[in-house]
Amino acid sequence: MIRLNRQVTVFGSAIFCVVVFSLYLMLDHLQLDHTKSPNNGGDRLQNGQLSILQGKIDRLERLLAENNEIISNIRDSVINLKESVKDGGPDGGNMSQGPYPELLASPPLVLPIDSQDCQFAAREFSKPADGVQLLDVYDLLTFDNPDGGVWKQGFDITYQENEWDSEPLQVFVVPHSHNDPGWLKTFDDYYRDQTQHILNNMVVKLHENSRWKMIWSEISYFSKWWDNIDDQKRDAVKSLVERGQLEITTGGWVMPDEANSHYFALIDQLLEGHQWLERNLGVKPQTGWAVDPFGHSPTNAYLLKQAGLANMLIQRVHYSIKKHFSSQKTLEFFWRQNWDPASSTDILCHMMPFYSYDVPHTCGPDPKICCQFDFKRLPGGRVSCPWRVPPQPITDGNVQQRVQMLLDQYRKKSKLFRTKVVMVPLGDDFRYTEALEWDQQFQNYQKLFDYMNSHPELHVKAQFGTITDYFNALRKSAIDPGHTGPSLPVVSGDFFTYADRDDHYWSGYFTSRPFYKRMDRVLESHLRAAEIIYSLTLANIRRSGKRNDFPAVENYRLLTEARRNLGLFQHHDAITGTGKDLVVIDYGTRLFHSILNLKQVIVNSAHWLVLKDKSAYSHNPSKAFLQMVSKKKHWRFNFSVETRSVVIYNPTEQDRTSVVTVYVNTPHVRVVTDHGHPVPAQVSAVWDEPTTASTELSFIAQVPALGLGMYQLGKAASGGAETAEYVFFRKSGELSVNVKHFTVNIPQDASTPLSIHNPHLQRLKLKEDGSEHQIKVEFAWYGTTSNRDKSGAYLFLPDGEAKMYSPAQPPVIRVTKGSVFSEITTTFDHVTHTLRLYNVQGVEGQAVEICNSVDIRGEFNREITMRLTSDVDSKDRFFTDLNGFQIQPRRTMAKLPLQANFYPMTSMAYLQDPGTRLTLLTAQSLGSASLKSGQLEVIMDRRLNQDDNRGMGQGVLDNKVTASSFRLLLEKRAKTDGKPSALSYPSLLSHVSSLYLNHPLIPMAVSTEAESLSLSPLSPLASSLPCDVHLVNLRTIQSKVKIFVFLHNTFFSFLSVEHKFSKVMTALLCSHSHCL
Ligand SMILES: [Zn+2]
Repeated sequence: MIRLNRQVTVFGSAIFCVVVFSLYLMLDHLQLDHTKSPNNGGDRLQNGQLSILQGKIDRLERLLAENNEIISNIRDSVINLKESVKDGGPDGGNMSQGPYPELLASPPLVLPIDSQDCQFAAREFSKPADGVQLLDVYDLLTFDNPDGGVWKQGFDITYQENEWDSEPLQVFVVPHSHNDPGWLKTFDDYYRDQTQHILNNMVVKLHENSRWKMIWSEISYFSKWWDNIDDQKRDAVKSLVERGQLEITTGGWVMPDEANSHYFALIDQLLEGHQWLERNLGVKPQTGWAVDPFGHSPTNAYLLKQAGLANMLIQRVHYSIKKHFSSQKTLEFFWRQNWDPASSTDILCHMMPFYSYDVPHTCGPDPKICCQFDFKRLPGGRVSCPWRVPPQPITDGNVQQRVQMLLDQYRKKSKLFRTKVVMVPLGDDFRYTEALEWDQQFQNYQKLFDYMNSHPELHVKAQFGTITDYFNALRKSAIDPGHTGPSLPVVSGDFFTYADRDDHYWSGYFTSRPFYKRMDRVLESHLRAAEIIYSLTLANIRRSGKRNDFPAVENYRLLTEARRNLGLFQHHDAITGTGKDLVVIDYGTRLFHSILNLKQVIVNSAHWLVLKDKSAYSHNPSKAFLQMVSKKKHWRFNFSVETRSVVIYNPTEQDRTSVVTVYVNTPHVRVVTDHGHPVPAQVSAVWDEPTTASTELSFIAQVPALGLGMYQLGKAASGGAETAEYVFFRKSGELSVNVKHFTVNIPQDASTPLSIHNPHLQRLKLKEDGSEHQIKVEFAWYGTTSNRDKSGAYLFLPDGEAKMYSPAQPPVIRVTKGSVFSEITTTFDHVTHTLRLYNVQGVEGQAVEICNSVDIRGEFNREITMRLTSDVDSKDRFFTDLNGFQIQPRRTMAKLPLQANFYPMTSMAYLQDPGTRLTLLTAQSLGSASLKSGQLEVIMDRRLNQDDNRGMGQGVLDNKVTASSFRLLLEKRAKTDGKPSALSYPSLLSHVSSLYLNHPLIPMAVSTEAESLSLSPLSPLASSLPCDVHLVNLRTIQSKVKIFVFLHNTFFSFLSVEHKFSKVMTALLCSHSHCL
């Protein structure tokens, strides 16, 4: 038998390699059109669908026999969903009858957990993948930057004339046009001015010559164009696709950023694109094309592989890595996940060797030569060659000489690769807008190819190709069974942080425009919550068979629009914060509208689900049944009637105990469950100014997984919510506090040493062994260098180390003490910093919550950083996540400039030594670093006066007051750190804490008019899903029955060799209190 702690260990380790469980519910038109849907057939149909669903899950169960328990757990949950839907009558979802305990009526169903359960990844159970590990490459390289000659960042390439005598060089020239869905212009303006013309010309020109080809990536543009063209043109496009002249590459809604994007959104935009393609063109993309994202993540490689792609291409990789990979001929490799012990995650990847994806940097090492083969730059045109040698039109007179020049470049390029197949992209940003440009490029190249191909002594076969044409030839030569060529290496790791030249590291965009990075995540959590509750509602409606006017079609439209707006924002100039101001506003407006719309979807669905008598349902948009409770001051509960009902939606797959806060117009309130049991509650001040306040109510709500809980708020003269008490400090100066209802204490002796690090959180205690750890929170400023090239939206070029923040005025420090939460708020000129502790059993009580509200609008060329300094002996190592999906170990290196040691942090970063791990969980993507042992810092906002010469043409001066949220966890480890490993995993606790941080409970107020209707809570699952299973989404898909159970189970299958999940473990509710 294996000891419990080991099971937990492995659990904790496995969890982050997420078990992704996506259940697609059906939404066909018949179901949507309820007025036409015959009621009597509803049950049969519903049963049919559910049995299909069960059938699929049964089949999956057989396929994944080794993961029996996990699968059956999910199956039970799904079957239970059916049961609870069936029993949707008066008893359905009665919390007191289900396995879910009523709050405080009985102790929570939390199993006693050994304190060791909080440990994590104490043992490595998987070996790092074989082959090249990027961490090792970083150790190896000197990162010097010598002049490489014509190929500045490379080296001289030589070859023998006879090298291709036995096997000719195969050249695939791949025409492409890079269309940013927003950058210098908005998405719509680019479409109107450029993109539609590119696509229109494409249809005409590719039909002129069957040898001419083109690739296209951004489905956001393609689908917009498709909506605007007639059937005849659509048929012409289809025939181009069928003939292989037009290839859709990647097929995502956009070409996403790979640093700041969360995997939920990466999947969203990929699904949206792929489903569009399936519906309209009937194609499945085979090859990924990512020429512009600023660094590359293995998460994206994994998602592409899972989406059925076989090949991918990347471009923006550090120039020193490119040079090293070129010299080792490892530019083409199988990209394998760090955590994959076998080869199941391998995807064939081509890394472009040179500086850029434009024509001068793609035909070969010498841009001066290659530029002469960009026929858009022919003399007389709007663009020219900066190397001052223009292209010449190809004629009978010069073709031989021009072929020699170009072939020389092709041959040199091919020497960087292992096979005799070479790929040459031919395009740039928004290329091929005009018919003339098509003719210039295609006709001149065709003459060059015709000459090459008709001269056997050149030993070359050149042609236009799509990127998959190229990969097919490569596979024939080096991969397919029976090939005679070389084999390709395996590479693991990521390609951050990107530098394109000198010390120009692109770590600025990890934080640029943080307001929108936060908004992105707010939209994400709303979208997920809305998708899930909408799908549950449709299932319930079908089951009920009741005629109704639920706005299913309209809400599906809002969901689709939100998916697309979220998808659009994953573009590598959107979430990155690298678009022009007006483009940023366009994105922000889209995000904001979708957040509002999704709130509508959530309240509409919850309305149906909480009604006891479904026949009482009626949809009236002008008279809201439920209203989203906002923590904004304009919305508050007022008690004109005796009691007000609150419906609380828990979008997580865990039964959950969390604090819910609403604004109230009186401090005399009580909260009870729907069974009348009182609930712990606290009335606190809402500080309009640091020292004047109105009131809010916080209470501890317990809501079942994916369920709806009901609470009643009522006036209470006594015995209601406790009022928080306040203590104010200020080092010097008068302090007057203006507040009713609350006890306020202002100690006369303000000589307590107060600085930006908060003395109340200097010590974090590990309860179980009594050890104390010092953690200091500080703020600091970075400036920008005095050199010519300065920090901008992309680049971080600091003026040396950060300087400690020293406020002009001593801060006001406010300490709140309450029964539900306590907090310390420190108000500086630029930051309002709050540390909060929840007095809640379970996950919420385990972490310190940090909220910063940052305002640097009065500054110039400054960036503000939050720095945690601890006694964790982390040395030069730390860990950041990639896309919220996996952990990448990092090493801070003195041989690199400061800005190179910053990495993207999407969901967490941590430090550890053999005894302790300190994890910072984040609710928004930001840049982070660990510049000294024990230190972890996060750039909160940046305000920069100038452009950094990457094309955007402006500084970053549109800063907003930006709130960002974090949680800090301190956990015990029991491990001797040996050799640095390429593997690390977050603990189970940090995983669930991250889930809670990103997906808060959603409170909704029942309108006063609706209080007379009878409502019941909903508990759709029999119990929480196991803590190590994350329900990524429950996404309704129009048009066909489609049920995917998408399990990322690498670790589970590996793990099953070692042990079986015990009943004890699968019953774990993730609620324990032994760790901090
Ligand atoms: Zn781009």
